[in-house]
Order: sequence, then C-alpha cells, then structure tokens
Amino acid sequence: MTNPLLGQMMDSPLLISNILTSAARHHSNMEIVSKRAEGDIHRYTVAELQIRSKKLAQALEHLGLKMGSRIGTLAWNGYRHLEIYYGVSGSGLVCHTINPRLFQEQIVYIIQHAEDEVIFFDQSFQSLVENLIPLCPNVKKWICLIDPALQAKSHLEIDNYETFIANESGEYEWPSFDERCASSLCYTSGTTGNPKGALYSHRSTILHSYASALPDSLCLSAMDVILPVVPMFHVNAWGIPYSSLLVGAKLVFPGAKLDGQSIYELLEAEKVTFSAGVPTIWAGVIQYMKTNHLKFSHFKRVIIGGSACPPAMMKTFQEYGVEVIHAWGMTELSPIGTVAKLKSFDQSKTKEQQELILQKQGRVVFGVDMKIVDGDLNALPHDGKAFGDLYVKGPWVINQYFKASESALQDGWFPTGDVSNIDPDGHMQITDRSKDVIKSGGEWISSIDLENVAAGHPFVTMAACISVAHPKWDERPLLVVEKKAELTITDEAIKADILKFFEGKIAKWWIPDDVVFVDKIPLTATGKMQKLKLREQFKNHQLPTL
Ligand code: AMP
Repeated sequence: MTNPLLGQMMDSPLLISNILTSAARHHSNMEIVSKRAEGDIHRYTVAELQIRSKKLAQALEHLGLKMGSRIGTLAWNGYRHLEIYYGVSGSGLVCHTINPRLFQEQIVYIIQHAEDEVIFFDQSFQSLVENLIPLCPNVKKWICLIDPALQAKSHLEIDNYETFIANESGEYEWPSFDERCASSLCYTSGTTGNPKGALYSHRSTILHSYASALPDSLCLSAMDVILPVVPMFHVNAWGIPYSSLLVGAKLVFPGAKLDGQSIYELLEAEKVTFSAGVPTIWAGVIQYMKTNHLKFSHFKRVIIGGSACPPAMMKTFQEYGVEVIHAWGMTELSPIGTVAKLKSFDQSKTKEQQELILQKQGRVVFGVDMKIVDGDLNALPHDGKAFGDLYVKGPWVINQYFKASESALQDGWFPTGDVSNIDPDGHMQITDRSKDVIKSGGEWISSIDLENVAAGHPFVTMAACISVAHPKWDERPLLVVEKKAELTITDEAIKADILKFFEGKIAKWWIPDDVVFVDKIPLTATGKMQKLKLREQFKNHQLPTL
C-alpha cells in the first residue's frame, strides 16, 4: 500500500519501565510484601520499588554494560528480585532468570550460552555459586541478595546487593528505545538435550501482561492480593510480576519456603485472594490443610498450570471455596496460551458438563491462535474428538530460540510438542506431550486422562502413566503410583482397588495393564513428572498376560 493513511495516535513504545512508572504514579502506596532470607517479613510500597529499581539501574550503568547485556538471577520470589526485573529490563539490559533446581552442568551451560555478565543470587545458593564462579569466568560480578550484616563469608569475591546500590541517588530517567528490544531470557528446562533460550521483548511482555489480566484470563484487578508461588525463575512467574503491577494489585512473595504450611500461613496472614502454581505445590497445601482441619478465609482464585491439574484437586479447592483456573502455556509462550473459562451459554449446562469444560486446558487468550494438525501437517477439525499436534502463533510466542541459526516455526506456526483436541466452542484439551503418548493397537491413549482418574483415588498421592512395550498391542499403559504413606493394606490389594476405580470412568481398553509402586515420582526442575526417567526404569517391566 503506498501512502497509507496512518492513525493520529501517540506512538509511545510498549516498555516494561512503563508498567513501573504507571504503578508508581497511580498505585504508589500499594504494598509489596516479602518473606525473605533474613528470616523476617519485609514490606514496602511500589513507590519504594521504583526508587530502588532506579538505583539498581544506575549502579549497573556504572559497570559500563552495553544495551542488551544479560544479567542473570538465581533467586527466589522476593522484592529484590522484582527490583532486578524492573531495574535490568527498564534500563535496556536483559534479565535472565536461571532455574537453580537444574543440574549444575546445565546451569553452567546456560550462563555461558547467555553470556551473563553479572549474576544476582540468594544466599541459599551460595555453595552452588561458589562452585559456579571458577566454571563461569566471564561473569564479572556475583552479587548476593541479603542484608550486608548477614552475608556469609566466602573465600571468593562476592559483592553485596545493598552495598552495590547504596550510593546511588535513584534520580534516573528510564531510557526509551524500540519496544522490540529484548527484555528477558528464560531457558526451557528440557529433559533431553541442552536447555534452549526464549528471548522475550518489551512488546511481547507488555502484550502478554494486558492479555493475562483479562477477565477470561486471570481476571486480575487492584482489588486483588496476589501471591505468585510459581517461581520468578519459571517463565517470569507466569508474568505476574508485570501483570500485578499493571493492575495495581498488592503482591506477596513467599521466598524460599514453598512447603504446604508456609504457603498456607502466608495466604492467610496477608489475606491473599489470588495465587498461581503447579499442581505439586498445591498438593502440599491441601495435605497440610486436611491434616490440620483448616479453611481459607480470603483465598478466592488459583491458577494452576505447568502440568494438568487433576480434577480431584479442582474439586477439593472448590470445597474450600476457591475457584481453580486451569491454564496451559509454555516457556516459548511467555507462558500463557489458553485459560479454561465458561461462556455465557454454558450457564444452561449441568454442573457436570461445566466441570468437564473447566477441566480442559481452555480457550485461547486473544493474541494467541492455535490449531491441531496430523502427521502430514494437515489441519484437523475442531470437533472435540480429533486430536493431533498443537501449533500456536501470536505476538508473545517465540519465532526462534536464542542464538539458534534457524527459525523454530513451521509455516509460521510454533509446534508446541503437545497433543490435543479442540472442541467447536474453542476449548482445547491436552491429551499428552507427543513423546509421552501411548499407542495401543494403533490408537492413542491419553496418559493425562488416566493420571487424572488415578489422582482421584484415595490411596494415591501422585500417579504417572507411561507406555510399556507389548507383543500384541505395541504399547500398553502402566500406572506408576506414589501411594499415601499411612496405608496398612498390601500393595496387591491397593493395586486391585486402583484398577477397579478406572471402571466406568474411561474406555475399558484404556485401563492400565498393571500398577507399580515407587517411593517418589521423580520431578523435573519445574515440578513436572519425569516420565522419561520412569520409562527408562520400567522399560523391561513384564505386564501380566490377560
Ligand atoms: P514449560 O515450558 O516448562 O512451562 O513446560 C511447558 C509444557 O508443560 C507444555 O508444553 C505442556 O506439555 C505442559 N503443560 C503446561 N500447562 C499444562 C496443563 N495445564 N496441562 C497439561 N500440560 C501442561
């Protein structure tokens, strides 16, 4: 089009610093509460967050870093980490959150691949950092996030965060630059191969923040008190450090203690209304509450994702008066892609029908588009039955991994590696990771469906369903169960009871051929069941002949 008629609207770039500037102008007294390594509860306001983030930006400026330089963090959820989010990205540097639960070799790989120049870390990771320092010689500064008086001694050169920013004035203008500039970097926690980096931009982050605050998304507002249990090193705590300031909500950070009791007590003490986390975290909270006969007094909504939320967990939360918002996403999507919410016409449906919709992974949040395809990349119908590989696109979906030489897309779409169906109303349901599908006699069995049923059995703490080779059917499902500790009956009796429990809940030929027990289901660094490990462990398991 030659000489298009352009709109006559202000053209200000979508920058992360805008969120903080706006929050500090219009929600300056909103509280940010952190349980911190010093052992106390720290409180301050958004106005103070802005000043300290600016001090950090000034201190970093004195290091002479170039725009786009990567600054790493190895840190729990807390106010200093939030200052790094804003101070680093706001000043044109890239905030690289590193998952400290990864293996040391992976962390070294990530730091070197990202070329981090400075790393901020929580004192609880001091011994890890002392191992990392000689292995990562390109990092110029290691800075500990703790009160200087409490900082542990080290034989290595480690700076202190408070000392680092102490002499700065906080009088600093956030720079303006192209909204497509990189703002933050997260690596996938890939169970095979090296982790891959998703490099977000200011624009993608702001658009994701707007979209994730929508009513049919997380429905956030200035009336909320938000506690992100999901770590700030796991896909930017699902964007909450941005979206909560965007709406002016109170923020509560749990620090390092993520056990059921600590989370429950913080939810209650700070009158939290909204939280977010993976199912394994909530299992701990529910267990603590059940054991101690507790209730919630303010908690209203929880977003659960990262892996499928078992319907039994949704039900329990419902009994506690908490709405579970089931969502799907991934590191490559910043992370939110779909959220399970009803539509107006669903109100005429029965409670059971509504529950089935809410158990799915949900509808796309505007901005993201999705489709399912067969092995030849032909689009499959959205009829709720056909299932295939899930592809997505949108302004907060990556087009390429950091430093990769090739695009990550196929025909302009990002292949998620998940297998799903989509119904005519647009509700998407994940049936598996493509590498986890169980192919029995040429038909696919959804391991997630089987796990969801098993998780509802009273003897089961956690269950993973994996495929095992079968002479006739190629593969058959094997259920691996972590059972409740207090059981006194035999494993044989438990197994029989669990298998009977499946009857009438799923197609008969889907029922697992066998059940095995493990002390602990292995989890990945982001709390997902490590099925690869289980497949390896049980690859020679003899299924009973039926
Ligand atoms: P990550 O990049 O570590 O966040 O992992 C993303 C992957 O987690 C997705 O591709 C899915 O396989 C899985 N996942 C995320 N949310 C859900 C969900 N609600 N149900 C099932 N799987 C999920």
